[in-house]
Amino acid sequence: MSPSPQKEPTIEPSYIRLHKSGELARRVEAFLEILADCTLCPWHCHVNRLEGEKGVCRVGALPMVSSYGPHFGEERPLVGVHGSGTIFLTYCNMKCVFCQNYDISHLGEGREVQVDELGEMMLSLWRQGCHNINFVTPSHQAAQILTALPYAIDRGLNIPLVYNCGGYEEPATLRLLDGIFDIYMPDFKYGDSATALLLSGIPHYVVTAKEALKEMHRQVGDLVMDERGIAVRGLLVRHLVLPAGLAGTRQVMEFIAREISPDTYVNIMDQYRPCFKASEHPSMNRRITSGEFEEAVAIAREEGIRRLDGITV
Ligand code: SF4
Repeated sequence: MSPSPQKEPTIEPSYIRLHKSGELARRVEAFLEILADCTLCPWHCHVNRLEGEKGVCRVGALPMVSSYGPHFGEERPLVGVHGSGTIFLTYCNMKCVFCQNYDISHLGEGREVQVDELGEMMLSLWRQGCHNINFVTPSHQAAQILTALPYAIDRGLNIPLVYNCGGYEEPATLRLLDGIFDIYMPDFKYGDSATALLLSGIPHYVVTAKEALKEMHRQVGDLVMDERGIAVRGLLVRHLVLPAGLAGTRQVMEFIAREISPDTYVNIMDQYRPCFKASEHPSMNRRITSGEFEEAVAIAREEGIRRLDGITV
C-alpha cells in the first residue's frame, strides 16, 4: 500500500488528544451505557440495544454499513483532491418521504459489521488519501463509531471526522461528542415543525435542530480550511430547497445568520427530485424551478449569510 498523502495533516484532529489522555475510552464507556437504555437520539426509545433490542432506527448493538468509498460529490472543502472518505450508515432516525437514499435509510440496504471492520473501513479510506472520514447519517450509530475509533487511531488514522446528519440530534449525545468530530455537517431541512412532521415524520424538528446547530457551532466554530482550501474544522450547514417553499428557507437563513454566525458555510442545494413516497404529496411531486433556487439564494444573502457554497456572495 502506498503511503497516504494525508500522513501529516496541517492540524491534528482533536480526537487524537482525547485518545492519548484516556478520555476517548471514557466516552466509549458512556456511549455503551446509553445503548443499554437508548437515548442516543431524540426518539428516546429506551431499548437495550446491547441485548439486541431495536427502536425506531432498527439498528442494534453492531454498526450497520451500506457502502463506503472516496466520494467526489460532496462540497469542495470536503472533496479536495482525493475525495471525502464516505461511510454510508444503514437506516436513519428520520423518515423523509422524499429521501434520495431511501434504499439505505428506509429499506435498510446494508449489513452488520464488527467494530474492528468499521475501523478498517476508516483506515482504508485514509490510506486511499481521502481528506476526511465522512459518516453519513451517524445520529443513531454514534456509539458504534466511537467504539471503532480507537482501533483506527492506533493504526494511524489522523484525518478529521465529519458528522453528516439530518439535524435531528440529541443534545446530550452531541455534548458527549465534543472533541471527537472536527467537522459537523447538519442539514437544516425545515423552517417549521409542522412541515417536518408531515414530510419527515419527526416531532419538534425546528427547536431540536436549532439547539443542535448551536451546540455544534459552540464546539467547532465557523468552517476553517487549510492552505489548499480543504476543511479541517468547523460547521457546514446544508439546506435543500423544496418545491412550493416547503423548506422554509427564510426562517432557516434568519436563524443561521442571527443565532449561529453570518460566516457559517452554507450549501443551498438544488437537487431535489421526487423520490420514494414524495408523489403522495402533490406539492412535492416535481423538481424545483430555477426561479425557486435563485429566490432561496437571494433570501440567504438578504438575511446576511456571507459564505455560500459554490456562490460568490
Ligand atoms: S438511536 Fe435508535 S433506538 Fe436510540 S433513541 Fe434513536 S431511534 Fe431510538
